[in-house]
Order: sequence, then C-alpha cells, then structure tokens
Amino acid sequence: MTEFTSPPTSAAERLDRIVKDGMCIGCGLCQAVAGTDKVTVKKSSSGMLVPFADATIDHETIDRIYDVCPGTRVEGLPKHLIDANTQHDLIWGAYQKMVLGWASDEQTRFKGSTGGALSGLGQYLLASNNVDFLLHARASKADPTFGEAHLTLEVDKVVEAAGSRYGPTAALININEMLDKGRTFAYIGLPCDIAALRNYARLDARVDQLVKYWLTPVCGGYMPTPSMRDFLAKLNIDFDQVSGFRYRGYGCPGPTRIELKDGTVIEKTYTDFWGEDESCWSLPHRCKMCPDGIGESADIAASDTWPGGSPDPATEHLDPGTNAIIARTAQGLSLLNEAVEAGFITLGDDVDPRYMDSVQPHQMKKKLKTRARYNGQRAAGSVVPRTARLRLDALYDANDEVDNKIQFKGAKKRALERKSMFTK
Ligand SMILES: Cc1cc2nc3c(=O)[nH]c(=O)nc-3n(C[C@H](O)[C@H](O)[C@H](O)COP(=O)(O)OP(=O)(O)OC[C@H]3O[C@@H](n4cnc5c(N)ncnc54)[C@H](O)[C@@H]3O)c2cc1C
Repeated sequence: MTEFTSPPTSAAERLDRIVKDGMCIGCGLCQAVAGTDKVTVKKSSSGMLVPFADATIDHETIDRIYDVCPGTRVEGLPKHLIDANTQHDLIWGAYQKMVLGWASDEQTRFKGSTGGALSGLGQYLLASNNVDFLLHARASKADPTFGEAHLTLEVDKVVEAAGSRYGPTAALININEMLDKGRTFAYIGLPCDIAALRNYARLDARVDQLVKYWLTPVCGGYMPTPSMRDFLAKLNIDFDQVSGFRYRGYGCPGPTRIELKDGTVIEKTYTDFWGEDESCWSLPHRCKMCPDGIGESADIAASDTWPGGSPDPATEHLDPGTNAIIARTAQGLSLLNEAVEAGFITLGDDVDPRYMDSVQPHQMKKKLKTRARYNGQRAAGSVVPRTARLRLDALYDANDEVDNKIQFKGAKKRALERKSMFTK
C-alpha cells in the first residue's frame, strides 16, 4: 500500500490527501471510478482540476481510487508485453526500436506538436480500420488554456487534436462512456494518463479488450493555471479574455498563439513561453516528482529531438519537426512498420538511448532523482506512489550520492511546506 506516517481518518480526507500532497494531476479517473455522485473533478480555487468528494464517500471506493490513481500508483510496461526482442535501458526502459520519424503528410507534420508522428499513427489506425476511434485530447472549448478528452472517428479530423496541450486536461474523465461503446480504440494520452489507464485495466476488463493501441508523447509536465495567469499578466493579458490558446504546432515547435475575445491575436515564440533552457518552466508538483515522463507502459512514445532539450531560438521557425519514436512493444513496432508501409509515417535514422539522453536531458535527470525525492516526501509523511518495473532503486544507485542527499532534503522540506499551505 501507499505509505502514510499519519493516516487521515475520513474517506473524503484520504482523497484530499492526494491533492494536498501534490500528487493529483487532474486526469479525472477518480470520478470515473467513484461515479459523479461520489466524486466530481472540477476547478479548485487555484484554477487546477482536482477531485471533490461527497461526504458519503466510503473507504472501499477510496481504496479503488488509490489502486488506480497515477498519483498513488505508477507501473512500467506490463510484463506480458516484454518479449525476446525487448531491449532494456536503465534510463529509457523497455524498447524494441528507437528511430527518428515524422508524419509523411506535410500538413500533419506542420500542424503536429513535433513532427506529427502521433497524429500520423492515429490517421493510419483509422484508415486501416485497426480501431474504431481515437481517444485523445484537444483544446478545451470552455477553458481555452486547458485540454479536454476528445474522440476522433475520421482520418481527416485527427489533425484537429494535434499539438501539445500544456494545460490541465482531464483526459480520463469520460473513460467509462468510451468503454460503454463496446468499440475498439487507440488511446493517446500523457504518460501519467497511460499509467492510470493501465491501472484501470485491473478493475475493468474492457480496457484490455477495447484499447488496442497505447500511444504517448514524452512529457516533462504541464503549466499550472496560476503560472499561466502570471505568464498572461506579464503580457498585459487578462486570463478571462482568452478565447483560444495554441501552445505549439504549426511548425516545430511553432508559435505560442493567444487569441482574445476581442479578436486580437498575439503570437510568442516557444522560448518566450518556456524561457530559454526552459527556465520559465513551472510545473505541478506531481510532474516534478514524475517517475515516468517517458511513457514506459505505452506501445509507442514520441518525443522532441532538439539537441540539449530546447529549440534554438534563432532557427526554431525553420524546423520542420522530427520526432524520436520509441516502439516499446511488438504491437508498437508492428504499428510503426505498417504505418510506414502504408505511407503515413516516414522514418529517418535509428537512434539509441544515449541519443535520447542528449535530446531529453531533463528526463534523464528526473529519472535519476525520483527515488531520493520519494524518500524525502515519504519522510515528511506525504503520499508517495507505489511503483513497479520503473527501476527506481537501480536509478537511485546510479545517481550521485551527494545529489541523492540534496534531493531527499529538498523533497522533505517542500512536502512539509506544502502541508502547511494547503487550500483547495
Ligand atoms: C504536457 C506536455 C509535456 C511535454 N513534455 C515534453 C518533453 O519533456 N519532452 C519532449 O520531447 N516532448 C514533450 N512534449 C511534446 C511531445 O513530445 C510531443 O507532443 C510529441 O513529440 C508528439 O509530437 P507529435 O508531433 O507526434 O504529436 P501530434 O501529432 O501533435 O499529436 C499529439 C497527440 O497528443 C495528444 N495530446 C496532446 N496534449 C495532450 C494532453 N495534455 N493530454 C492528452 N493527450 C494530449 C493530442 O490529442 C494528439 O493526439 C510534451 C507535450 C505535452 C502535452
């Protein structure tokens, strides 16, 4: 079980504890598990998506939530998906192939977040009738800086959900409705959403029957709402006047485009938004503590390929976009090969885990530090996710001893501070 040093008493408090300890990402799965009469995931006073429990919620329901919530449980690739062709890397986990690639269709590559590889794979899956629909995320209609779960049935509509949603996104809030359709689908979600859905497969057998493909962008975390408000305030933009927000895409990374209700359009570069070397990154706590930003339990993970991890501000407007594509399973590798054969994906050179370190240094560092951070958070009596098949102990041993101590101390201190500051 997830460990506590001072267990909260009521069932509702146990749910709040996940939020209070900073481990909720607002994916919405708890609402799906408990039912809307017991849990609703909605905006808190800080503007983040969090669960609110009805006072009648019972411990049994909370146990089920703790069993599937990606704040309390994260596992690597299910064992049955590892075969004789699987290679293993301490940082990058299980994989069968790592290769550069992009969507063959020019518009898809252009509109995609990086090179449109995930959209291209989704297009192939629909065009080939391998699945009945895609479940992924697009810009929220109600909250333009947020994402929202979205179902796509048609090949030429896939690109409408292309791009990265770097805002809160309850990607699994309507998962039961999707499963109730009894139709096959491919799931494209963040690594934490993938981990959550893999967890849910243990409670609902329909997940493994109907989710035929699991695809994910490599993810360093999203922008919390208070930080988005600050970013907009610096541009003299009122958060409530925003009617459309595109984080990236339309190039790689493409401009960050802000549309206002009065028709004004403001475009900033990706580096304006995130800062050079991502110095403006402000992440939810759960993302800083993420044990798997690299989509270890997906069939395919796709990432950016900027040397050093950030685009060059001088040339970013010229980049057509190239993904690194990690096929982790036999199913993922077959999908990739079929999509290439059918003309949806174009491949470049093969790459390897050390190349991935060079284009994702932040992911590598986070992997090495996570166990020490969890130890610190646990020492403060906060929720720490149960993990399996993510090599956290071996990564801890591979990390610098002094750094492990620094991470432990820092995580413990921040966990104690968070407890004293909590408001929902
Ligand atoms: C929060 C976040 C953090 C990221 N951090 C990194 C990083 O650390 N390193 C890195 O290399 N790249 C990062 N990316 C970018 C990511 O790598 C690219 O999206 C990935 O390369 C896929 O590019 P693509 O062109 O193939 O995607 P596209 O063809 O544009 O397809 C993207 C797919 O992802 C889905 N999607 C987008 N945002 C969300 C969301 N919030 N929730 C669920 N589904 C979503 C879309 O619906 C679409 O189907 C991040 C993206 C996000 C959303």
